[in-house]
Amino acid sequence: MILKSEITSDEQLHIYIRSKLETAICGLCKNVIGCSEGYGDEIKLRHLSVLNKETYVIYRPKIGKCKQCLTQPKTTQVVSWHKQRSPHTQAYDEYLLKQLINSTIEDVSEKENIGYDAVVGALNRQVEPSINWDEIDNLHTIGIDEIALTKGHKNFAAIITTKQVKGKIRILAVLADRKKNGK
Ligand SMILES: [Zn+2]
Repeated sequence: MILKSEITSDEQLHIYIRSKLETAICGLCKNVIGCSEGYGDEIKLRHLSVLNKETYVIYRPKIGKCKQCLTQPKTTQVVSWHKQRSPHTQAYDEYLLKQLINSTIEDVSEKENIGYDAVVGALNRQVEPSINWDEIDNLHTIGIDEIALTKGHKNFAAIITTKQVKGKIRILAVLADRKKNGK
């Protein structure tokens, strides 16, 4: 739900939203708990650009209290479109990953006006232990893009892509490439 949006003096678009999700998972017992303890601190996340403007989504996560745990601990809710501690929405992370195909971290960092580490962070958050091949309908064209994570080129990640029937590039997985570490 959008509460309000504004364009700041430095031409950024800020969109204030509130999640419709009314539950959280208790950090202790993992049970689903209701959120009726107010809101946590405001979180500002970089999101996909709108009308060519740097766009941020701003929200305050809801807080729930577990009545089944003895100490009645409070837990901040986690929403599906934001990984905890990430400065980006999930959609923006995925967008950055697509930008990295046939490109470099430096280029993406410059183009998006975000830090080098922010791009590496987006990449690292999407590293998966393996590829789920069952989800893939067309393996005729597999692409492997190796991305150097550090300027010393010691750490690599590999972005595995496939071209689907309609020509759309789909990201299969991001794999940490340990072979080049020399270990
Ligand atoms: Zn609990």
